[in-house]
Amino acid sequence: MCGIVGVIAERNIIPILMEGLRRLEYRGYDSAGIAVRNQDARLQRIRSVGKVAELQHLLDQREIEAPLGIAHTRWATHGMPAERNAHPHMSGEQVAVVHNGIIENHAELRAELQQKGFVFSSETDTEVIAHLLAALLAEGQGILDATRNAVAHLVGAYALAVISPDDPDHLIVSRAGSPLVIGVGVGEHFIASDVF
Ligand code: GLU
Repeated sequence: MCGIVGVIAERNIIPILMEGLRRLEYRGYDSAGIAVRNQDARLQRIRSVGKVAELQHLLDQREIEAPLGIAHTRWATHGMPAERNAHPHMSGEQVAVVHNGIIENHAELRAELQQKGFVFSSETDTEVIAHLLAALLAEGQGILDATRNAVAHLVGAYALAVISPDDPDHLIVSRAGSPLVIGVGVGEHFIASDVF
């Protein structure tokens, strides 16, 4: 049981992501992380082992603002609590994903993706989703189609939020068997594992 949060807005969303993580922290204390699309159209990721307060401490030392981002508080199922296993997971600079759930066919997918040349940096089941998405994006698919096609390969339970540096206007979500709520605002939208 992990907690995921995502926000797309016309203002800096980092305080909203962090407030969401603090309120969902009961869902996992192993690590916390965020990935945002910054003003330079790049993904920026910050992760830390332990509580959300540790992540806040790292953020306090930087000046980051962004209108689109995702965040995660982890209860590890695959891969020990460690920074390399903390979400968000990325495939190069192409895509970032947060996941609540368990991908049961992760070992087969990992082997297939490794054969295609993808290099894994974690022991999580989740990282296969990032590389699946990158493979589909590399074929020229947009982030929405890539997510639709990626989840078709997954067996298990998931609630996902996905962002890409190439698409400032979309925060993509998908769920099967794990909870996900969507908050629709005026010019801004929110997703989370639970209301916060
Ligand atoms: N299976 C993922 C991991 O271990 C997500 C954990 C969860 O949702 O509990 O990182």
